Amino acid sequence: MHVLIDDVQLWDGTGSPAQARMSVEIRDGLIHWIGPASQWQGSRPTVQIVDGRARTLIPGLMDCHVHYSSPGGPDWIARFSDPLPEISIRAIELAEASLRSGVTTARDVGAPQGVSIKLAHMARAGEINAPNIRAAGTWIAHRGSYVSFARHFGEAHELRDAIRMEIEEGAELIKVALSGWNEGNAAEVPFNEKLLSVGVEEAQRAGFKIACHANDPASCRIAARAGVDSLEHGMFLEQGDLDAMANNKTCLVPTMSVWDAMLYYAHAVDWPEARKKRAEGLRQGSRLAVIGAVRAGVQIALGTDAGGGAARHGRIAREAELMVECGLEPRDALIAATSSASKLIGEDQRGTIEKGKIADLVLLDANPLENVGALRLIAAVFQGGRRVA
Ligand SMILES: [Zn+2]
Repeated sequence: MHVLIDDVQLWDGTGSPAQARMSVEIRDGLIHWIGPASQWQGSRPTVQIVDGRARTLIPGLMDCHVHYSSPGGPDWIARFSDPLPEISIRAIELAEASLRSGVTTARDVGAPQGVSIKLAHMARAGEINAPNIRAAGTWIAHRGSYVSFARHFGEAHELRDAIRMEIEEGAELIKVALSGWNEGNAAEVPFNEKLLSVGVEEAQRAGFKIACHANDPASCRIAARAGVDSLEHGMFLEQGDLDAMANNKTCLVPTMSVWDAMLYYAHAVDWPEARKKRAEGLRQGSRLAVIGAVRAGVQIALGTDAGGGAARHGRIAREAELMVECGLEPRDALIAATSSASKLIGEDQRGTIEKGKIADLVLLDANPLENVGALRLIAAVFQGGRRVA
């Protein structure tokens, strides 16, 4: 496919400011040429021209924390226990909704029964319309501390075995949960830093990234110091934790959409007062963690936790807006969703718009650098040079 996105404002995600009146040529799935629109030398009748006027072109978005096996909503945890055919078919639909919202790459950080691994394979084979997916298999968790469909372990050697088994079954990312789900109260965290470090060593020795679910104070202390690649959620991160993360180059994936959606459902579905209060507290904790992370120089990558919490799929714009509400410039929220995310995921051929890279692109009918909500105004989505929305 040979495409010219013509006369567009280009924000390439490399750190350069946006440039007006640019053109981007796509050939064989890759970015073939970038330059001022007036300097393009090709023959217009031989390419498919996409009008870029009054539009902004940005790299394909990356959501570093999704669960396509669940739709989110007010009873998201129960949805993970739906019958397998329902979960599987739904995952295909939700992945497509995500792609249409501009998410061309996603990390699926946990699904029952290998659904996310199968989904990732189907996406890569071009059998379904879905983002490029990096899938963790299921969650790895200490016995008794997590949902029944996680892979449980007790001793350190069993943790090593669990990680090896995940890799053998096709996981491309290791996900460890230190304690209970978002709704649980983690009275006891069976992990300590030493035990988590065993997991980090085992995953990284095999060449895999390790993401750590930490959504209570004790888990945040441990995960920030164990050298995991990313700390997910982190609503109870304190200054010392954030400094440790900056030192360890541990990325924060704040998933603020979850608390935002939870608070919405708390009122819309009329949850008990205690649950409303809890949602408010988590949202506030998450905001403080993000504000602190920016100050401490912690790398932030965007993740919505769509499906894994109350947040629904296809709403990545909301997460970017919540980041901006915490004081990030729109530009920095976009970096969290593109180049920073690509570093975390390990996708060096994606995440920026540069000659020779994979043509994953989002064309918007507004300027997200002025108002990040412009991420909702999708004019087109290209994945590997193919127009998918
Ligand atoms: Zn999650």
